[in-house]
Amino acid sequence: MRTIIEPFRIKSVEPIRMTTPQQRDQILREARFNPFLIHAHNVIIDLLTDSGASAMSADQWAGIMRGDESYAGSESFWRLQEVLKDLTGFDNVLPTHQGRASERILFELIGGPGKVIPSNAHFDTTRANIEHSGAQAVNLPIPEAATPRLRHPFKGNMDVAALEAFIERVRPENIPVVMLTVTNNTCGGQPVSLENIRQVKAVCRRYNLPLFLDACRFAENAWFIRTREPGYSQTPVKAIAREMFSLADGATISAKKDGLVNIGGLLLIRDPHLFKRACDLLILTEGYVTYGGLAGRDLEAMAQGFREVVEEDYLGYRIRSVEYLGQKLVEAGIGIIEPPGGHAIYIDASTFAPHIPPEQFPGQAVVCGLYRIAGIRSCEIGSVMAGPRAKASMELVRLALPRRVYTQSHFDYVAEACVELWQRRSELRGLRIVDAPEVLRHFTAAFEELGAP
Ligand SMILES: *Cc1c(COP(=O)(O)O)cnc(C)c1O
Repeated sequence: MRTIIEPFRIKSVEPIRMTTPQQRDQILREARFNPFLIHAHNVIIDLLTDSGASAMSADQWAGIMRGDESYAGSESFWRLQEVLKDLTGFDNVLPTHQGRASERILFELIGGPGKVIPSNAHFDTTRANIEHSGAQAVNLPIPEAATPRLRHPFKGNMDVAALEAFIERVRPENIPVVMLTVTNNTCGGQPVSLENIRQVKAVCRRYNLPLFLDACRFAENAWFIRTREPGYSQTPVKAIAREMFSLADGATISAKKDGLVNIGGLLLIRDPHLFKRACDLLILTEGYVTYGGLAGRDLEAMAQGFREVVEEDYLGYRIRSVEYLGQKLVEAGIGIIEPPGGHAIYIDASTFAPHIPPEQFPGQAVVCGLYRIAGIRSCEIGSVMAGPRAKASMELVRLALPRRVYTQSHFDYVAEACVELWQRRSELRGLRIVDAPEVLRHFTAAFEELGAP
């Protein structure tokens, strides 16, 4: 059979509240044209993020009941550790409440003024935690990553020659760690090849530097390796994931993505001395080392989530869903980052609304348009998010797909809405910020719509 179906049945449903275009226009105005300020029950399809928005399986819910809430040495922790040891090969596992808690602990230990940390591309919270420690975060993606429509099978790769030149210039003693984000979220959820991880590891070895993965979407990355990298089509995804982790000296993970849970994170560290220091710091702010800011039931759900995420029927369906939505937009002539990555479609708003200049936020105009036309909530990744101090390199609108939540007819609806908005794109209007904080303004900024073009 050629049709890839959702590899699950639905046992428990959540109603979607339908709204009319008139109601949505009113709701959007009340939210000052910022979808972060819209109540979730007024959203028909929520594509704001794929983080913490997964549907859990029957086995995960069963685990919730089995959760051992002992303060120390919880059975749920030992089960989680066993699953992760098998999946990653790491013996030293620390649970945290989410990815950024792992980042905060790691960079408090190895960051600090004068230090510089290169990556294929740092995620916002990773960069923020590095900078909070006083260190500097540097992105070294391959040049192909900067061109939305340029197709490359591993567009998330790091520029290895640039990394070597960077280490020579900055000197290894100022670089506490080299990082690779898999998949590369900042560059569009694009995968990193095993060949690239190996090459980066070889450079790290030469300069005696540790390599850490930001492994939030390690399973989606492993699926791309299996389907795109020569020599891996017969290798089980779990074995590929294990090979990825075998090249790393540590990893920070948000379990809210490929952990298939609503809350949770992990910090993996090979070096026993650094691990010991991380334990001490974790106890200071997250809790005891066998629960790390989570309930026993959360650990149990996480253990089961990490088992399920490497199932190939699941990953085949997952990646195909993203590709399916992307194909429909491309066929209609809408510019997106190509090829689609693992967790989201990124619409190129500069070609969607070329009549709106960056200072009038074309991405935000498309976000508002999608909400008005169909009740779809998306996220601007452009001048609103970057500013006011930095300049956006691209004006993007992200449609992030929560895991196991929506079905094919939902994606048909999303595609139809995008195409209808595309046909009426000349009606889109720019926006002006009327009130915003200095940092992370996209969460709370209030906008005003400008006059018709
Ligand atoms: C989500 C994410 C994080 C941060 O994780 P949280 O659980 O949101 O704190 C870090 N890196 C990447 C690549 C992410 O996608």
